[in-house]
Amino acid sequence: MGSNNIKVPAVFLDRDGTIIFNKKYLNSPKKVKLFSFIAESIIKLKNAGFKIIVVTNQSGINRGILTKKQLNIINEKINNLLKKKGAKIDGFYYCPHIEADDCKCRKPKIGMVLEGSRFFNINLKESYVIGDCIKDYLLGFNMGGKGILVLTGHGKKQRKEISKEKIKPMAISKNLKEAVKVIVQNKKNRK
Ligand SMILES: [Zn+2]
Repeated sequence: MGSNNIKVPAVFLDRDGTIIFNKKYLNSPKKVKLFSFIAESIIKLKNAGFKIIVVTNQSGINRGILTKKQLNIINEKINNLLKKKGAKIDGFYYCPHIEADDCKCRKPKIGMVLEGSRFFNINLKESYVIGDCIKDYLLGFNMGGKGILVLTGHGKKQRKEISKEKIKPMAISKNLKEAVKVIVQNKKNRK
């Protein structure tokens, strides 16, 4: 009874270019480098009541460049680095597919979000996606929530392409830290 029925909001985070520096087909935990402001940003979101869930397209798996085991080790490394600063990512979801696989999870499709929202009992309408690519903020729109583009990673290049899109991001922020400010403020305004 009770708490299982209460849905909570989440912030779905892209991984590469949003929380860690971009490395094409990153396959070694040694190459994992977090942006300096990630731990404090996650703590701020947690304090505002959000679950933190990473959703990442990792087509390197189906391209044979990266194994699922390597991917899990990299994700563990990210959480170990965060734990040293008192922060933690609640869940990691990845899409191993290439576009030709025509799966239901490759962003901006919502398969990973649906899986995470079932497991963590998420209210998607109150949730956000933050990422450095157009497909990330589109994912936020597709799930019925909101999306923010950050200008780290591919963000600056991606911003130039937004004019071609029908759907625009809720905000464009310099980095995750600034995007978190937008979300926390937005939540306050709704109360
Ligand atoms: Zn997929």
